[in-house]
Amino acid sequence: MEYLSVSAAQRCVLESVAAMGIETIRLEQSLGRVLAEDVRANRDLPPYDVSAMDGFAVRSADLAGGSVELEVVEDIKAGDMPTKTVQAGQCARIMTGAPVPQGADAVVRVEDSETLSDGRVRFARPAPSGMDIRLRGEGMRNGDVVLAAGTEITPGVVGVLATVKCAQLTVYRRPRVAILSTGNELEGIDEPVDPNKIPDANSYALLAQVQALGITPVLLGIARDDPVELERYLRQGLEYDVLLVSGGTSVGVHDYVRPTVEALGVQMKFWRVAMKPGHPLAFGVLERPDGTKARVFGLPGNPVSSMVCFEEFVLLALRSIMGHARLHRRTVSARLAHPVKMRPGRTEFVRVVLSRDGEGYIATSTGNQSSGALLSMAKADGLLIAPSDSNGLAAGEIVSVQFLDGAAFQDQIGFRE
Ligand code: AMP
Ligand code: MG
Repeated sequence: MEYLSVSAAQRCVLESVAAMGIETIRLEQSLGRVLAEDVRANRDLPPYDVSAMDGFAVRSADLAGGSVELEVVEDIKAGDMPTKTVQAGQCARIMTGAPVPQGADAVVRVEDSETLSDGRVRFARPAPSGMDIRLRGEGMRNGDVVLAAGTEITPGVVGVLATVKCAQLTVYRRPRVAILSTGNELEGIDEPVDPNKIPDANSYALLAQVQALGITPVLLGIARDDPVELERYLRQGLEYDVLLVSGGTSVGVHDYVRPTVEALGVQMKFWRVAMKPGHPLAFGVLERPDGTKARVFGLPGNPVSSMVCFEEFVLLALRSIMGHARLHRRTVSARLAHPVKMRPGRTEFVRVVLSRDGEGYIATSTGNQSSGALLSMAKADGLLIAPSDSNGLAAGEIVSVQFLDGAAFQDQIGFRE
């Protein structure tokens, strides 16, 4: 089999996944989920014309000539209904959100008024009709679709859902995900330190990557490089919607993952991708007799490779199953701080930190880019994507950097105030 390009492999993954069913959840649990149905407004908001300010409801005609003194006929608080009509020469004290009384057609802010000793109020300037009034239905109209199916639920969306009284809502289901590490050399997190062993980092890095998407995965543990033991673990893993196996997917004689999943009925879609780090990466699909599917990612054992493959492929699959319309992490353009050596033929992902100057982002390597150098992944804000036809990148070159989770924060913002 040929080496697939990263984009061809991404397409192949996406052809094998789709949103996977819906469920009804409480609003309090909805952050990060995706709406599976349109949501409509169940009333006009505001429900009537209301004041946008604390101030006075006036007849604009009374103020047309400039300075005027008006009698206050009523005090209208938010939640009150006005009981009087504002006549010529009159006004009503009104609070933000309170209904504008009959007769009034403008609101003047309290800061632009002067209350006189006799209780009347002086206004010094004209107020155009409609000033500081929010019209009925201006925010949303009864029956209108305010949120379309496919909308990702952010805090702002939660606010809208609460506004239209969606205490329960229908969202796409989250995939059930299992994670398995493989290798005789691996040492579990609770096992005593053995200097001849390698600590299992992948189970936990992958766990965290999945958790960051709002999914709680199951850790299956560590399978030895033994076909019988591996088959037992893989059988268990194939009961999930998505199975992530790290290690053992290469072509070494003890790399049993691929033949074993194939023997269990998984159809391999690809197992070679032209990327660095990241190869070998295998992807396959098990179609169960009941029509449901398990997707298996055979990720490289090297911890950075496994994490990068997660970012480029697994993430797309999980987000697609969750119903997200936008699947890819955001990329930004950055100026490269130093040259990067590379040979053409593979898309390279370089771990970088991002800083800013007046001209924009600057990308700087986090150091050792070996596929086992997890520390340089831990420091990274993003992955610089070096195209496969490149012979190397020069200092100052404009490159594309894909954010890693958690990189959307910065030290400070230079507000111009
Ligand atoms: P493999 O893909 O099984 O050939 O493994 C490639 C390299 O990754 C080897 O050096 C392994 O020791 C290492 N490795 C495999 N699995 C893990 C893991 N779960 N955690 C840390 N390192 C691993
Ligand atoms: Mg191995």
